[in-house]
Amino acid sequence: SATATTPSGFLRVIDLRGQHLSWNELRHAVPRQTASSVAEAEASVRSIIENVQTNGAAAIREYAQKFDGVDQGRIKVDPAEIQKAVAELDPAVRKGLETAIDRTRRFAKAQRPADVEVEIAPGAVLNHRWTPVKRAGLYIPGGLAVYPSSVIMNVVPAQAAGVESVVLCTPPQKDFGGLPHPVILAAAGLLEVDEVWAIGGAQSLAAMAYGLTDGEDELEPVNTVTGPGNIFVAMAKRQLRSIVGVDAEAGTTEIAIIADNSADARFVAADLISQAEHDPDAGSVLITDSAEFAQQVEAELATQVAEAKHQERIGIALRGPQSGVVLTDNLERSIEVADAYAAEHLEIHTENAREVAGRVRNAGAIFIGSYSPVPLGDYAAGSNHVLPTGGTAVFNSGLHAASFMKAVQVIEYSRDALAELEDDIVALATSEDLPAHGRAVTIRSEASGREG
Ligand code: NAD
Repeated sequence: SATATTPSGFLRVIDLRGQHLSWNELRHAVPRQTASSVAEAEASVRSIIENVQTNGAAAIREYAQKFDGVDQGRIKVDPAEIQKAVAELDPAVRKGLETAIDRTRRFAKAQRPADVEVEIAPGAVLNHRWTPVKRAGLYIPGGLAVYPSSVIMNVVPAQAAGVESVVLCTPPQKDFGGLPHPVILAAAGLLEVDEVWAIGGAQSLAAMAYGLTDGEDELEPVNTVTGPGNIFVAMAKRQLRSIVGVDAEAGTTEIAIIADNSADARFVAADLISQAEHDPDAGSVLITDSAEFAQQVEAELATQVAEAKHQERIGIALRGPQSGVVLTDNLERSIEVADAYAAEHLEIHTENAREVAGRVRNAGAIFIGSYSPVPLGDYAAGSNHVLPTGGTAVFNSGLHAASFMKAVQVIEYSRDALAELEDDIVALATSEDLPAHGRAVTIRSEASGREG
């Protein structure tokens, strides 16, 4: 099995050279958050959801006090505060938000799925018709960092999908009198969203799923919830899945980088650090067939982490069990490791990077070459930054218009088209011992026989 050593540097080394691991063994060999931290979050989220269900706004105020250090007055944000935040927005930040909105919106509209109509036989017409959900609840994180960019990444695809009503939830901020961060409010204002509630974490997802009453203010339950967040947010989505639609589990950030010795260690180190900056639990993983390149990256990390503003949490994230360097025999094996890890973000820094990207099956988003770093996608590439984490990219996609839509299958057969299938349906219904099913068809042909 894999041997992991803790070097003097940041990243532990998982040396898979000379080993031929199965897919399942690879899934266990790659770095991950520890199971115990996941189980702990799962248990505390269960009690948070129950408390919100039972005690409503009182539970929300209790958690605002406990987790956000806020003595909360009104939980719903007065729309006047949103307008004020737009008016007071720094012009450079406004320009950045507007650029991001424009690119994200153009891509989100292009991503909308098309309806399909098929005439499967003469007079037998089938439609696959996409419809938006009526109301969506969007979570905007704001704990260690605040994420106005996430307002764009949630609201824009919801609007592109044609969702009628959206509500934003985001943690109350102690430094802003218990209101959400002003740039979050301003981003909501620029997107013409006027329903914002200052609620963080798992409790906000419970409020959006079940609804909430606070005096005069009413948070109507939503049909689907989306948005990124820390492990508590991800666990809440997991637990609420049966009563409300959820997008992918977009939990604590991860970056994996496939690199060969043609890559630039300065860029690779900067990108590993950029995602470690989110959260002490963030995962930064380098996958390379060059031990020499891995050493160059370690040296760069030492230099660049020392210069970083958030070096404490970056250091914790890089040294954590969820981060590391995976050494492989060759590029082929590196791609297998990346597929087993199924990163939220995968960067490819190799020769023929685009061709390599085409061979990867599992990732939330793939960033090709030296000039497509993850922060480009975090803010303004036009792609979405709400992406599946924790290996769920094996079966899940990042947020896009269809995350807010569902398809209705529409069936319309003529009398003759139904008659043509009568014998088949009766035979199948009889084989399932459901003769009334067959009868619903034969009663029609008998009636039309009488009518001529
Ligand atoms: P957050 O808003 O996700 O979490 C803050 C909230 O967590 C608090 O308001 C509180 O309610 C809750 N909380 C804190 N400690 C708790 C505890 N012990 N028990 C229960 N609840 C608790 O903000 P954050 O913490 O800054 O995390 C943001 C996360 O979002 C980061 O991990 C970042 O990596 C991630 N992110 C992911 C994506 C993605 O698409 N996957 C995108 C952007 C950000």
